[in-house]
Amino acid sequence: MHNIVLFGPPGAGKGTQSQKLIAKYNLVHLSTGDLLRAQIAEGTELGLQAKKLMDEGLLVPDEVVIGMIGNALQRNTQAAGFIFDGFPRTVAQAESLDQLLAQHGTGVACMIALEVGEEELVTRLLERGKTSGRPDDQDETKIRRRVTVYNTETAQVAGYYAAQHKFHALNGIGEIDDIFQQICTLIDQHKAAQPEAPAEATQEVKA
Ligand code: ADP
Repeated sequence: MHNIVLFGPPGAGKGTQSQKLIAKYNLVHLSTGDLLRAQIAEGTELGLQAKKLMDEGLLVPDEVVIGMIGNALQRNTQAAGFIFDGFPRTVAQAESLDQLLAQHGTGVACMIALEVGEEELVTRLLERGKTSGRPDDQDETKIRRRVTVYNTETAQVAGYYAAQHKFHALNGIGEIDDIFQQICTLIDQHKAAQPEAPAEATQEVKA
């Protein structure tokens, strides 16, 4: 499995790049924001609780998102790999992700961060809010709170992966396709450095 964490503040372009990456590398896209919004749409108790926090631009409790990711990994044991988008957002989530992936005999290959300044993020999210229907994209105060939460609670997750020599940062301002090419270059470098075991070798281990 080849697992990639796409990182960056709200509005950095993680969702856009994820869509392009899953098509190219045949990966499964796991966005905790999308998983939470699906719970809201279904009207579950979890969704109801999460919605209050999301609408305010605050984080949902670690155990909730970790549980959702654990279930998603169980449902996709045949995947070639995953793109994690919007997760992990705290160091506790990063530690849990390592444990969950280890249970599946795999780990995080690399984290790729898209860097974008606050004013550009606010402009992008307000623009997205005109069509996304997301309440958290329609109010500048809430958008700035999400950026603050990112800077205070989430940014330190980069250090967790840097300590494992897995962290890479890219400028998230530019042409979507140019940024995509830069991400692909990083992923291809990691793939070349850590080639997956050939099928015969895997069978030998099993036998
Ligand atoms: P964005 O990156 O634009 O903020 P997301 O869809 O990733 O959008 O997240 C929307 C909201 O969902 C977040 O503001 C937060 O409330 C909640 N959320 C998503 N992922 C997580 C997570 N890993 N941990 C805690 N809360 C999360």
